[in-house]
Amino acid sequence: MADYDFLQYEMHDDGSIVRILLDRPDARNAQNRGMLVELDHAFLRAEADDQCRVVILGGTGPIFSSGHDLGSKQAVAEYSSHPTWQINGGSRDGTEKRMLQEWHYFFQNTLRWRNLRKITIAQAQGPVYAAGLMLLWACDLIVGADDAVFADVVGTRLGMCGLEYFGHPWEFGPRKAKELLLTGDSIDVHEAHSLGMVSKVFPRAELESSTLDFARRIAKLPTMTALMIKESVNQTQDAQGFYSSLQACFTIHQLNHAHWAEVHDNRFPAALPEDGITAWREALPIVPAEKTTVRAAGAAAGGGAS
Ligand code: ZN
Repeated sequence: MADYDFLQYEMHDDGSIVRILLDRPDARNAQNRGMLVELDHAFLRAEADDQCRVVILGGTGPIFSSGHDLGSKQAVAEYSSHPTWQINGGSRDGTEKRMLQEWHYFFQNTLRWRNLRKITIAQAQGPVYAAGLMLLWACDLIVGADDAVFADVVGTRLGMCGLEYFGHPWEFGPRKAKELLLTGDSIDVHEAHSLGMVSKVFPRAELESSTLDFARRIAKLPTMTALMIKESVNQTQDAQGFYSSLQACFTIHQLNHAHWAEVHDNRFPAALPEDGITAWREALPIVPAEKTTVRAAGAAAGGGAS
């Protein structure tokens, strides 16, 4: 049995349910390279296991995942120590390196999990930002604790057009996707439920047990039936353009990175304060996207980044 540094891998109900938990609670379950590589291993392990019918993806601690790890000690050390930084384009330079690395570890990873031959349920609590959303969207079903909040702040804080896996219009609808990306504002779990992104909202204290109950109900279905239902919906989305639009938007994402790398002397591939972006540490708290106000009550007025 594999040991993971950044995950917990649990089997429930005689192995019919596998629960994978992101396990860096002190780092808000930010996704470092080691975690993403382990997560791919864990998903493929559950996929290969014929006992397994449903996979739950959750996170330990108060937050499901705060997104990609953009600079913790762990993440920085991995640039020189993790073997995946020397393969899949990691030894190349410039846009080629970034494109290939993001293609493998952000985009194709996520797409592979979306197409996993098992039913998957994401279990979210607390604020889920940016690449945290990619992990949720890769799953067939999403359930949330009543404190779950969702936002993508890469536009307002990094000058980027969204995530490497551009699920936004498919999950929020096209106009809401534009609004949320252009403002960096958040929606709560109830609005995500009304948009169809989230299936169930559970009290925080009952999130784990209720998600397991939900998984048990789905695990009763014949595996062939469950997979054909999943595949019918996925193929419908693919026929509607999901697959090709994600490919196109990945390319646009790389164009956006290439722009910032080109205009910065240090080749930093995202916007900096000199580009009109509020510095990450000084950014105002993320506020809810409210129907009748530009900025939620109680938040500072003016043109902050969030
Ligand atoms: Zn990127």
